[in-house]
Amino acid sequence: MSADPLDGPAAGLKESLAAAIDRDAVHLAAVGDDIFAHPELAYHEFRTADLVARELRGLGLPVEEGLARTGVRARLRGARPGPVVCVLAELDALHAPDHPAADPGTGAAHACGHNAQVAHLVGVARALTERAAAGRLAGEVVFFAVPAEEYSEIGRPGVPDVEFPGGKQELIRLGCFDGVGLALMAHATGTPDPEPGGGEPAPALGMAWHYTGFATRRARFRGRSAHASSAPGHGVDSLSAARVALHAIDAQREAFAADVRVHPVLRAQPGSLNVIAEQTTVDILIRGRTSQSIADAERRVDRSLRAGALAVGAAVELSSAPGFLPLDVDRTLGGLFRRNALTLAGAAGWAEHDFSAASTDAGDLSHLMPVMHATHGGCAGVNHSARFRVVDPVRAYVQPAKAIAWTVVDLLHGDAATARAAIAGHRPRHTRTGYVDAVRATARHAHCAEDAGEPWRS
Ligand SMILES: [Zn+2]
Ligand SMILES: [Zn+2]
Repeated sequence: MSADPLDGPAAGLKESLAAAIDRDAVHLAAVGDDIFAHPELAYHEFRTADLVARELRGLGLPVEEGLARTGVRARLRGARPGPVVCVLAELDALHAPDHPAADPGTGAAHACGHNAQVAHLVGVARALTERAAAGRLAGEVVFFAVPAEEYSEIGRPGVPDVEFPGGKQELIRLGCFDGVGLALMAHATGTPDPEPGGGEPAPALGMAWHYTGFATRRARFRGRSAHASSAPGHGVDSLSAARVALHAIDAQREAFAADVRVHPVLRAQPGSLNVIAEQTTVDILIRGRTSQSIADAERRVDRSLRAGALAVGAAVELSSAPGFLPLDVDRTLGGLFRRNALTLAGAAGWAEHDFSAASTDAGDLSHLMPVMHATHGGCAGVNHSARFRVVDPVRAYVQPAKAIAWTVVDLLHGDAATARAAIAGHRPRHTRTGYVDAVRATARHAHCAEDAGEPWRS
């Protein structure tokens, strides 16, 4: 393969696609900004899905809607049969009510830049269609806007007809990725805040090769109410149990594997200042780069949670909902993207890292097929903060679309030999049914009554 992505049989097509996307810059920025201004939470991205469906239908593509509630999919068939390349875009915002652009009703805000992903998908679809690229490609390009990548609540109210928390997880379960050979996407990376810590702005394009996966815990501590001052010894303080548990986790920070992150949220129960708290809930994400490091951290966290209950004589119910699997970016796909990114953005516009401590349900997909999950800049503020926003529409919306479009061409032009090789080189760790069974098995429940059931009274 040539070192220069513009020195090959598809060079003319690539230049033509880049020019089409450049000419589309105003439209793509309007799409990205519109979605930023109308954020919607997981599995409720109805307006955003409508926008995607309208865009794709306007190109004359057959469009399917309502996949896992809000997923939208369209197909562009190449000239000859061949592998299916999926261009992904995530539809959802996250719960970030302090963000200046947050929806006042739901607290949703695009503080993770998924609005840019939709602009990429629209940009790639418009360019490939307008330039009649399909005639030069074998196989199929599937444009797939998917729900629910953020994971901000463990015990959120159930969504009708949805079993799994991640949109890609749910779409795998439903068979919507059956037949797809590989998947591509680019995700926003914000700029570190100037103080404290500082740091360089995110490069125009980049790659983290590995992302953490995570397990979840909900610990519901149950104690016994009593007068908080005149009779605290007659109660069992569930808040104290939670505090001891969190200290026990903190005491083991150095024992966790280096790639592990454990971050809890203490759920305040509506209580009274003068009553010992009968019930306190702690939700925890337990992240790690490998299934082994996650499993080791889970054991330490479970012991800590039970220790908190034991110390004060409370009971604790432990439950877990499905988490996300670690993501290993496919080396072949990542290498193609890097080559294209270096031509589009130059060496100064590219950065890659071995590891990101963030997680994504693209990790789940990577256990079934080769996945490329690149990063792009053009945003200020750290992801998930109230400061996060798009500041450079070309870097956020336009340039990633070009790099993705060029990677699609690399994969499918001619007889799609590159896509076939990438698929052949990938070792899936699950079949679809094996995956669904494995995810279901992570939803567990255990009750540990240390002492609180004891019928003591005075
Ligand atoms: Zn996010
Ligand atoms: Zn995100």
